[in-house]
Amino acid sequence: MVDLVLRSRRVITPSGERPAAVAITGEKIVAVEAHDAPIEAASEVDLAETALLPGLVDTHVHVNEPGRTEWEGFATATRAAAAGGVTTIIDMPLNSLPPTVDVEALRVKRAAAEGQVHVDVGFWGGTIPGNAGDLPSLHDAGVFGFKAFLADSGVPEFPPVSAAELIKAMRTTDALFVVHAEDPGRLREPPPSAAYADFLASRPAAAEIGAIATAIDAARSTGRRVHILHLSAADALPLIAAAKADGVRVTAETCPHYLTLDAARIPDGATEFKCCPPIRDASNADALWRALADGLITSVVSDHSPCTPALKRGDFSTAWGGIASVQLGLPVVWTAARSRGHSLADVVEWMARRPADLVGLSGKGRIAPGADADLVAFDPEATFTVDPRRLLQRHAVTPYAGMVLRGVVTTTWLRGRTVTGGRLLTRER
Ligand SMILES: [Zn+2]
Repeated sequence: MVDLVLRSRRVITPSGERPAAVAITGEKIVAVEAHDAPIEAASEVDLAETALLPGLVDTHVHVNEPGRTEWEGFATATRAAAAGGVTTIIDMPLNSLPPTVDVEALRVKRAAAEGQVHVDVGFWGGTIPGNAGDLPSLHDAGVFGFKAFLADSGVPEFPPVSAAELIKAMRTTDALFVVHAEDPGRLREPPPSAAYADFLASRPAAAEIGAIATAIDAARSTGRRVHILHLSAADALPLIAAAKADGVRVTAETCPHYLTLDAARIPDGATEFKCCPPIRDASNADALWRALADGLITSVVSDHSPCTPALKRGDFSTAWGGIASVQLGLPVVWTAARSRGHSLADVVEWMARRPADLVGLSGKGRIAPGADADLVAFDPEATFTVDPRRLLQRHAVTPYAGMVLRGVVTTTWLRGRTVTGGRLLTRER
């Protein structure tokens, strides 16, 4: 007898959507059977037309604890994640104090997270000038790879690396390197201005293209793996396609805001839309969707990057750059994907299976025997209006306020139980 059976007319499996019964024992999925298969179970839930998805895997989340817990924190970020159908997050190494750049800093971060996470949490390490020697031991301690900035990160304790420093770091370990790709030489200081166009002009597509070329060169010359974070500029896509065709190990992700928001419609002074790289125009977003459809962009992750409401105020030159959307990514992307003719299975591919594969979490992001029973009941037809006060992140700041979105998460299971507590993850070997 199994512990739990979940039946749905719309189960999203690795081979597509179908009616099925998912059997769970302990923390694992033990079988995926026909919808009407007789299965003896201690309990059973019939979800009818509500879809059953694997829990999403968000490999790009800034939790900011310890050190800047007033911006966000493990309890609030993971509660928001669970409510949004995200059952695994990988936390970025910066904005917390200390940044996760050596084994001791990882120990401090794990101690801060312990006991207060509602979903499973893994950690990225970071590479900064001078810490290349720390990377092998930090990788052995279980981080999923290393983040590098090629431009100013926004915080002084996490300085950018040069192209030579990135190559030096990549030579120390076979870890995955994930890169914030903007070329500082092609960024300008934004003028003090309430107009979004002035901010956008200060961070042109050429800055992304230049830095992506640097990252690709590093991967080419070292033979290591590099992943381009939060790709905004669609004009960089041919560069990535050409490198892949040459056998360079490069992948790229984008974010819900680059896919769905339009620079031309950002109101004056609306700094909740500020992020780096910036949101660009609607034709750019169309090109990002095409790249997702043909697999050149592999995943969609939140880049959840909150701060205090006070830091988010001011004009576009002074406000903190970052959008907090771990709770809203699924309905934001599904609403737009559906209108563009994509399936729920496509969205699951981009937001669950491929991010899990990026970081080597073979038991996450898929509804299959042997996988963790991380599952989400999702009503794909229900609609709701985004009320910032109902978000579970620490601060009620979002560019999606007032939008009508399609798709409601009704229940989230982590390792076979409705969400209560998560675990700290280490890289699989
Ligand atoms: Zn980020």
